[in-house]
Parts: sequence; C-alpha cells; structure tokens
Amino acid sequence: MGYQNIIEEIADTVKSLFGQGKVADYIPALAKVPPNKLGIAIETIGGLSFCTGDAEEQFSIQSISKVIALAMAYPKVGEQLWERVGIEPSGNPFNSLVQLEYERGIPRNPFINAGALVITDLLIEHFPQPKNDLLQLTRQLAQSDDIYYDYKVAASERELGYTNAALVNFMKSHYNIKAPVENVLDVYFHQCSLAMSCRELARAFLMFANHGIIPHSGERILTESQAKRLNALMLTCGFYDEAGEFAFRVGLPGKSGVGGGIVAVIPGELAIAVWSPELNEHGNSLVGIKVLELFTTLTGKSIF
Ligand code: GLN
Repeated sequence: MGYQNIIEEIADTVKSLFGQGKVADYIPALAKVPPNKLGIAIETIGGLSFCTGDAEEQFSIQSISKVIALAMAYPKVGEQLWERVGIEPSGNPFNSLVQLEYERGIPRNPFINAGALVITDLLIEHFPQPKNDLLQLTRQLAQSDDIYYDYKVAASERELGYTNAALVNFMKSHYNIKAPVENVLDVYFHQCSLAMSCRELARAFLMFANHGIIPHSGERILTESQAKRLNALMLTCGFYDEAGEFAFRVGLPGKSGVGGGIVAVIPGELAIAVWSPELNEHGNSLVGIKVLELFTTLTGKSIF
C-alpha cells in the first residue's frame, strides 16, 4: 500500500479517539481551536508529497519551534552552546522549574521551556534581528513565504506567561540568561506563535532527515554531525516526560507542541507531520501519537 492510502486509512481509524483528550486551554487564543481537526502530511527527500484532512490549515506550532530555534543557534554558537544547556531527557513536564534549582540554572535540554529560553537568549546575542531571522529561516526550510507569527497567540502568551517569566528570572539569577528578561520572553513567545500547516512543517523538517541539507534547494543548514545530534535530541527529549513512550510506540525522532502538532523524521527518507489539537496529560497530541504509531507499524519503518 502507498503512503497516500496508508495515511487515509489511519485518519479513518483514529477518528474514534476524538473526545478523549483536551485542547490546550492555558491561553484563550488556543482554547478556541476546534478539537476535531486532523491533518497528516508526508514529504519525502525525493520530492513526493502526500496529505490528508486538514493538512493545509495553519495552526500554532508552539514547542515544535524549539527545534528550529536550536537549528539556528547551534551552527552560530558551536559546541559552547552545551555549556549553557544540557542534553539529557528531563522526565518532567515541559514547563517544570524543579530541576533548575539542583542544576544551578542549567536546563536539562533545549526542548523543555527552560532550555528553549536559553536558546532564545543565544539568538538575541548572536543575531541582529532574532525574530525576523527565525521567521526567515522557517520560511526557507519550509519553502513557503506564507508563514507568519500569530500575534494574537504571542500576546496571549505574554499576558499569561508567568511560569516562563519565572523560568527566565531564575536562570538569570544564575547568570545563564544575558539579555533583559523582557526581550527573551518577547522572542520566545513569538517563536511559539509561529503558525504553520502540516505540509509546511513536514517540508521544514526534511532538512533534519537529509543530514542538514534542504533537499529542494541543496542549501546546507547544519553539518552532518549537528543534524545527527539534533535528531538524537528529538528522540530522547522531544516529548518531555513522554519521550520514552514515544520512542517505544513510534520509534522516530520527533517534536510535539501544545498546539497539537507533532513532526517526526525517518532519517534519509521523509518527514511526517500530524495535527490534532486534543492533548493527553503530558501536553502531547493524543491522536497525533496514535497516527504515528500506526504509521510506523503499518510501514515497518522506524529507526530501529
Ligand atoms: N507556549 C508554550 C509555553 O511556553 C509552549 C509549550 C509547548 O508547546 N509544550 O508554555
């Protein structure tokens, strides 16, 4: 069976799970998203595209942006980056404060909020216009000029971003944040608000499946080693305290966001993105994980 038939069959199967999760409601802008949306898109390195359902509709990518921000910072900062943020799974919720105290303001990894906030701080240090440069990189990766910040979401994040403010302030007290707290939060809330479709996300993540090169244009964004490392981090840290379960059930590097998006890669072959806004108790898309579990089961393609 081809990928198109497989994703259509999976979409039919998983609809029975609608209603079991809960749409993110920590900000009003996300709480309004219709719960029963479902999009799936696959892009292959060879240039084939497959999609079904709401795969062309843009949604808030939220924490998926943490991978793009890291892909922007890492080549610029180099290995010194790992003096500011660790590479170990946290086993804690995405916005947890607890480990920061034991680890003197050094976050466990770049894909929890604390780690992503340090990466944002590095973007501010190394790029003249970090918000604009991040948007341009995202458009370049996705080969789409149609990607924007959703300013309503960014404003909502700022208004209610008390936990993120606490994380930045705590890390600043340990000298692990250099820029003013307000600037770090501003760039971080904008990156979270990036709106993209499954198709755009799958295309943007092909670079990670293709050893750091954008397949469509041939441009190199990461070295081979950097691409390997980012994939390793997605595998071990991409799903917060559910990273083990995702590796166990799906077996691919990937990243989720509280907007209900998940993107995963099969290195050397393709990227697949799913959007279904209802979340499980870990803040990951409930239906999205099931879609990817069925995909690797039906195709026999995981990294293991
Ligand atoms: N904007 C969210 C936050 O910072 C992103 C979290 C996520 O997607 N897990 O809390």
